[in-house]
Amino acid sequence: MALGPADSDGTIDAGDLVGTVRSLVDWFDRNARDLPWRRTRDPYAIWVSEVMLQQTQVQTVIAYWTRWMERLPGVHALAAAPTDEVLKLWEGLGYYSRARNLQDAARRMVTELGGVFPSEVSALRALPGIGPYTAGAIASIAFDLPEPLLDGNVMRVLTRLFAIEGDPKSRIVNRHLWDLGGRLVRTAHRSDGLGQARCSRLNQALMELGATVCTPGKNPDCAACPVSSGCRARRLGEPGRFPQLPPRVPPTPRYFATGVLEHGGRFLLRLREEPGVNRGFWEFPSWETGADEAPGPVLSRHLGVQPGAWEALPDLRHAITRYRITQRVLLARLDHPPGGVTDGSTGTWLWAGPAELEALPLTSAHRKLAGRLPRGATAREAGPPDRAGLKARNCQAGRAGPLSAHT
Ligand code: SF4
Repeated sequence: MALGPADSDGTIDAGDLVGTVRSLVDWFDRNARDLPWRRTRDPYAIWVSEVMLQQTQVQTVIAYWTRWMERLPGVHALAAAPTDEVLKLWEGLGYYSRARNLQDAARRMVTELGGVFPSEVSALRALPGIGPYTAGAIASIAFDLPEPLLDGNVMRVLTRLFAIEGDPKSRIVNRHLWDLGGRLVRTAHRSDGLGQARCSRLNQALMELGATVCTPGKNPDCAACPVSSGCRARRLGEPGRFPQLPPRVPPTPRYFATGVLEHGGRFLLRLREEPGVNRGFWEFPSWETGADEAPGPVLSRHLGVQPGAWEALPDLRHAITRYRITQRVLLARLDHPPGGVTDGSTGTWLWAGPAELEALPLTSAHRKLAGRLPRGATAREAGPPDRAGLKARNCQAGRAGPLSAHT
């Protein structure tokens, strides 16, 4: 394969594109990893895998995807499932709005599209949570339509292959990359000698090359690359100079006070109901604080617990998007439940035993905290697991002291 360098206006010879496409598809046929979602053309299965793979490593996704497909094998099953079960299946993957969007989109497909999975990009884009990348992935991989896709891996391959200067996320450069991706996949579509599923294989080849050969950093494995002879970045001797991403913005620190209240072997949890990434998950009650603000008074004020009742647990540290979070955790073992939430907020609260703690969807940080609770605090199980009865024990918290109403 010989790919001529793009000229100054970025024009690329059509013959060069044909050679590039053939080399990529041939390489993919011989080198593709055997991943479970590659053994099917089911758009639902491919959609779920693509959404899970955003922000998450392949090896992690395999177990999640397999469990999800066993429990929710199609659009109808996902649409009908209880939302807390969907969130529980997603627990640990983070970016939880993705799971809610999957279910919202499945429900739209059932109610508005007769349960038929759309193939056209425009119809896919109309569904919750499906952006240009996911729409292009479903249309090309599942339906073999000549639609481009551009994720971080493909962006890296294209900027290196064609030595594209500038921030690939800027409007002009990004549009150029989508155009290039479109030309490549349309070239595959027109190439009779490539066999079946040629658009699907071409786009997966770009993704696979970026994931396994043209990797981030200064030293991609160019010796193993099927398009190295025509790669402009390699000819320039500096593949690591592409893509030209702007410097990372330093993370913003945020601090939270988190209270673990234990009474009679149960722990107080609150349901996240406000709009946001963690909506639908349960958590140990937390409030944001200043960097230098002591957590005890904050928690005592909100939860009505005596200041002297708290004992410190290790901090929890984690990162979410551009935030670096520190949760300062205090535990109070109570002989009597507190009189009530004194900030007047409303919400759904639950005194959960260890089995319920295990069954409910918790975000990763709060799951980690649940696993760290002192043995003595979790040993006194208050009753058998009772998912069906959870709602009956939920309560609306307010000034009147409802925290004690369900103990
Ligand atoms: S030759 Fe190297 S830099 Fe160019 S596409 Fe292949 S792996 Fe990436």
